[in-house]
Amino acid sequence: MIITKKKDINAILESLKGKKTVFLFGCNSCAEQCATGGEKEIKEMTAILEEHGIKVVGSSIPDETCYRQLILKDYRLKPELKEAEAVLVLACGAGVRTVADAADETQPVLPALDSLFLASVERVGRFFEGCSLCGECVLHITGGICPHTECPKGLLNGPCGGVAHGMCEVNIESECAWVRIYKRLEKQGRLHALRNIAAPKNHSAGTRPRKVLLRESGNSADKKGRK
Ligand code: SF4
Ligand code: SF4
Repeated sequence: MIITKKKDINAILESLKGKKTVFLFGCNSCAEQCATGGEKEIKEMTAILEEHGIKVVGSSIPDETCYRQLILKDYRLKPELKEAEAVLVLACGAGVRTVADAADETQPVLPALDSLFLASVERVGRFFEGCSLCGECVLHITGGICPHTECPKGLLNGPCGGVAHGMCEVNIESECAWVRIYKRLEKQGRLHALRNIAAPKNHSAGTRPRKVLLRESGNSADKKGRK
């Protein structure tokens, strides 16, 4: 799940400067769970924009705003979306990018949120970052705890010399990720996994932008706006 936070409203109003009509997109997936892009937030944003003289001509909360087909459907079925002077997206950056690709290039598509990280969900409203999508997973040798993400120094061979009484020297309220890795592997009888020095990470595996093509689509609508 992608964690998002609301942008400062003054920054949003600044990005909409000079626009009289706007269409809003929320997202019924991650942003809804983060309370940043669900029905309530769309209503709140509508009220704020209208107070500032910007007419909200319509809105949509797709199940996943990062899914191009859902956005293209809105563009086909909602003339008010095509005609809006700008589109404001209450979703993560991937959602904004997807809407921007589906829109005519003359129509500004603007973000209302900042995208923070890929999260594991502990329970509703409680998230933590456990993976930073490095492209070369090492969890098989670290007991399912990611040193790349959970050690602030990203050490692949740890712990560092700063660990004190099992606690991290950077995040002093957290147990050192490498101490947790050691303890977990010990419980699993797999401490031998730590005997080899891990080689430097292959950062080319995470070179951006990354793309995956699992299957070709013959649907021309699917290709609209693809860059
Ligand atoms: S090693 Fe890479 S892919 Fe695996 S959890 Fe950590 S950041 Fe994610
Ligand atoms: S104390 Fe542990 S978690 Fe903190 S920076 Fe050093 S190795 Fe990483």
